Amino acid sequence: MTEILVLVDHVDGEVKKPTYELLTIAKRLGEPSAVFIGDAGKSGDVAEKVKKYGAEKVYVVDDAEIKGYLVAPKAEALQQLAEKTSPDAILIPSSFEGKEVAARLAIKLESGLITDATDVQEGGGAAIATQSVFAGNFTVTSKVTHGTPIITVKPNAAAPEEAEGAAAVEEFAVTVSDAAKKAQIVASQPRKSTGRPELTEAAIVVSGGRGTGGDFEPIENFADALGAAVGASRAVVDSGWMPHSYQVGQTGKTVSPQLYVAAGISGAIQHRAGMQTSKTIVAVNKDEEAPLFELVDFGVVGDLHKVLPAATEEINKRKG
Ligand code: FAD
Repeated sequence: MTEILVLVDHVDGEVKKPTYELLTIAKRLGEPSAVFIGDAGKSGDVAEKVKKYGAEKVYVVDDAEIKGYLVAPKAEALQQLAEKTSPDAILIPSSFEGKEVAARLAIKLESGLITDATDVQEGGGAAIATQSVFAGNFTVTSKVTHGTPIITVKPNAAAPEEAEGAAAVEEFAVTVSDAAKKAQIVASQPRKSTGRPELTEAAIVVSGGRGTGGDFEPIENFADALGAAVGASRAVVDSGWMPHSYQVGQTGKTVSPQLYVAAGISGAIQHRAGMQTSKTIVAVNKDEEAPLFELVDFGVVGDLHKVLPAATEEINKRKG
């Protein structure tokens, strides 16, 4: 069976959900091998986790010497591993970092690259990727025709499916060039945790727009009742009601959760561009003519300050 490399998305060895999604996709295409670039001391824990999602091998690239050197060493590590293993595809999480690693890797391997896939399926022996392009107005399916297909995949592109793999750990030593060490992180400060899931990875996102009038309490309470992440429209961010990191849309984050709830958001094309691949879309808006209602699976015409607290109360009651 053909080998598919999956770059493990992690923070200090804490494996993140997109990794399991990528392993699930890799299994459709061949035999998944996880590539962990991080602290080799944590490789055992990582192997235990990816094993449950079908990883047959875990290549461990110890980052002791390259930690803090941004993305270039990771691209070199993947290049050397790809040259050794000749995989049939390489799947990388579609984060800012992932896409930069993928782009550098594609040049090094002289391979075709597809970014921001919302789905990847096997078709005629090739990896067929789906993308949502031009502000979500077109859905494109494509495949790489030259070299090793490198595909960056958006979070929530697949529901992680458990499948026992062998997860055989193999240390892989890389030689990183001086050129790849030209930019180094001198300090980093983790963002204060909100206790909520990360916006781009969350299975449920509740976003508020100008209709909140700047009062995000109903949005946050509803999100917490559902275990959801909180998002916002640009009108909210521009008004200084929420930080830019909350913005969903063309110039903000792209989300594709199982459930997206938009409250007090009109549904401008630039907002839709960041959320319209969500599996189920719900809108709460007091204007029944709001453009977002064209897109929704379920719409509530009403004042979000009444609808959301009532829904929150009911959810909390049912949760017990
Ligand atoms: P509005 O359009 O003002 O809509 C507010 C809605 O709330 C209305 O539909 C109203 O009926 C409803 N409402 C009011 N009160 C209530 C209430 N009490 N209960 C329920 N509903 C209520 N926008 C983004 O979101 N993300 C982007 O990334 C983005 N990028 C952009 C890039 C460019 C180049 C440009 C030009 C624009 C971009 N925009 C983006 C802005 C976008 O065009 C819209 O202006 C913006 O999305 C509007 O935000 P909104 O829906 O919250 O506000």
